[in-house]
Amino acid sequence: MSQPSEFHWLLAVVQSIDVGVVVLDRDYCIEVWNTFMENRSGVLPEAARRQSFFTLFPELDEEWFRRKVESVMTLGTPSFTIWEQRPYLLRFKNYQPITGLEDFMYQNTTLLPLRGTSGAIEQVCLIIYDVTDVAVNRRQLQAANRELQRLSSTDRLTGLYNRGHWEEILRQDYARHRRHESQSALVMFDIDHFKSINDTYGHQAGDAVIQQVAELIRETMRDCDVAGRYGGEEFVVLLRDTDKQGAFTFAERLRRVVEAHEVQHDGRPIRFTISLGIADLSQPSTGHAQLIEWADSALYASKSAGRNCVTLHGHAARDQ
Ligand code: GH3
Ligand code: MG
Ligand code: MG
Repeated sequence: MSQPSEFHWLLAVVQSIDVGVVVLDRDYCIEVWNTFMENRSGVLPEAARRQSFFTLFPELDEEWFRRKVESVMTLGTPSFTIWEQRPYLLRFKNYQPITGLEDFMYQNTTLLPLRGTSGAIEQVCLIIYDVTDVAVNRRQLQAANRELQRLSSTDRLTGLYNRGHWEEILRQDYARHRRHESQSALVMFDIDHFKSINDTYGHQAGDAVIQQVAELIRETMRDCDVAGRYGGEEFVVLLRDTDKQGAFTFAERLRRVVEAHEVQHDGRPIRFTISLGIADLSQPSTGHAQLIEWADSALYASKSAGRNCVTLHGHAARDQ
């Protein structure tokens, strides 16, 4: 830069661009503080100049920042920080009313080494970009995707996994079992004479019964088990690391808990029972779909045997 006039207009550009420009010397004292920095921080250039960056912004992670700047100065190459790693370098208020969600400004920052006339690096320049729009949009999109994922995998009435998602979990577990020879078992059950609950007490009462059954499953199963609503009033529970005997114990406990439970609807008590079927991995199977078939046929055997009982696949009802 040879002409003083060039220097002058270059300075005007730095002052008016919509990014923060800060120049620090080797002692982290501020040499340049442009209008963006003045407006966003509220610190006037006269107050900033010759001040230590750390005194002015005590919230800045000094150890991290020094390491970053030292490497820029030593290596002579630029460095970057992005909002995904660190939401901001300096905490500035976010005044953009449209985005509204976050009250601070997300920032990307570039650190540039500046060489003096001797060729040695004597200063570092920080260029701070306001990326609040991008960051907030991205975060809203991520939150919406998470919610969409939740909605598409769960059943609205009970909050349990829906059939499609539950079957996908079973399929993955089954593939893992093939490799690791782990135990697991399936319990499938259906509410007995549910049509007559709907007919006697109304559809809403039927819904309340379904919801409370889901609650009873949650209370009875372990955290690692996976429950799903398989159909209208049909449920499934995948019991991980559980053998036939363990599954039978679980199923019996659930059967008794349901039998003892009373749903209150419009001041009227509703009692009901469930019929259960169990399939496990002790017999060779062709795939996860076969396990479901087995559990389903065991459930059907429980219905035929008079309901309110548990059947293990491959065993006669009430004979285990
Ligand atoms: P069984 O003992 O043989 O199981 O007799 P059931 O009366 O329970 O017969 P079935 O299992 O075929 O009955 C299913 C009924 O569940 C039919 C349907 O109207 C009702 N149903 C399905 N989904 C819902 C729901 O979300 N809410 C309510 N209230 N009823 C439902
Ligand atoms: Mg039924
Ligand atoms: Mg049914």
